[in-house]
Amino acid sequence: MKALRIHKPKDVRVDNVDDPKIESARDAIIRVTSTAICGSDLHMYNGLVPQPRPMTMGHEFMGIVEEVGSEVERLKKGDRVVVPFPIACGWCWFCRHDLPTACENSNPNYGPRSGLLKEKGGALFGYTDLYGGYDGGQAEAVRVPYADYGPRKVPDSLTDEQVLFLTDILPTGWTGIDKARLKGGETVAIFGAGPVGLMAMKAAWVQGAGRVIALDRQGYRLETARRVADAETIDVDDNDPVDRILEMTNNMGADVVVDAVGMEAEHDLGVLERVQDIVMKHQGGSLEVIHQAVTSVRRGGFLSVLGVYTTEYDNFPLGQIMDKGIGMWAGQAPVHNYIDLLLDLIVSGKVKVDDIITHTLPLEQAPHGYDIFNKKEEDCVKVILKP
Ligand code: NAD
Ligand code: ZN
Ligand code: ZN
Repeated sequence: MKALRIHKPKDVRVDNVDDPKIESARDAIIRVTSTAICGSDLHMYNGLVPQPRPMTMGHEFMGIVEEVGSEVERLKKGDRVVVPFPIACGWCWFCRHDLPTACENSNPNYGPRSGLLKEKGGALFGYTDLYGGYDGGQAEAVRVPYADYGPRKVPDSLTDEQVLFLTDILPTGWTGIDKARLKGGETVAIFGAGPVGLMAMKAAWVQGAGRVIALDRQGYRLETARRVADAETIDVDDNDPVDRILEMTNNMGADVVVDAVGMEAEHDLGVLERVQDIVMKHQGGSLEVIHQAVTSVRRGGFLSVLGVYTTEYDNFPLGQIMDKGIGMWAGQAPVHNYIDLLLDLIVSGKVKVDDIITHTLPLEQAPHGYDIFNKKEEDCVKVILKP
């Protein structure tokens, strides 16, 4: 079958690979009908999340069940399902305590300590050997472990485009807001108007925000934020984002700030500084948005870090967080906890997510999809691939 594999940074190819097979009694094989490229894939694509051997990428996928292992009771051949991006067993201590991304069983490199290149959490589809080495879903078919726990059936009345984002970006955006426990009327500022930021904006309204402010450096993405999420917008290239947020909030700061950018924030770091950061300090990317978020959140407010960071970082603003009394959450989204609620919101029409899709391409054109999504060309916001 055909699968999109990463060979080295910026080198992704559609290769012929072996078809996936049932390897354990709880596996299912899914024939993929739609899959998306995520901002997290870009960290691998750009080499900030290293992967030494060629690997099939993709953790946002859905399709039709082709075959199930002997212990899978909740799925059968022909079912149409969406699959959460974290791989979780469903019965370990963490899975039973609503912490599927900390599943103890899915990842051979699992460990309690964490740290650079060691002891990660639960496995993720198509996201390096460190995160379990499972092939991803940017392929014609994919093996899904623990198939009686993760996949959810979706109604035939909904298109792939309406439900595909239940695999990741909608639950991720939702998590960022849910962790802040809105009481109603809050001002929520969201750094990054990419797919994850846009989903967080939509989630903020549904969960009771009074104001939603989107920040980005891409004018066309800010335009998307106004159109699909009714956000007020700040172009961080034209304004100091902290000054603008303070101005807009009577000098209080935003009640909730979401970092939906991550370590690949575009910023003005010199080449030497960048080399030092990566080679000498093992520091990946930039804390630019974290600094701005901590400075612009109101005292006693909440910061949700959805954007991915992978290493230790010097100059983390812990003193500011302490002085301002800021609550904080960071992590991979526990998709399993929210997916049923969010499917209901889509079915009832309360949440609509397919309005962010800008490109639908055959799998063969996935390398082009990566290129334009990474460079933010062709006004690209979200790419869907059709295997
Ligand atoms: P994306 O790369 O399309 O979005 C990032 C956006 O940030 C872009 O629109 C970019 O223009 C903007 N940006 C860059 N520098 C900026 C700056 N200095 N200030 C403001 N905006 C800036 O990717 P995405 O798919 O939206 O993902 C966003 C982040 O969320 C990534 O780090 C991704 O890995 C992460 N993510 C996390 C989870 C999770 O479970 N926590 C799930 C999915 C994605
Ligand atoms: Zn993703
Ligand atoms: Zn588990």
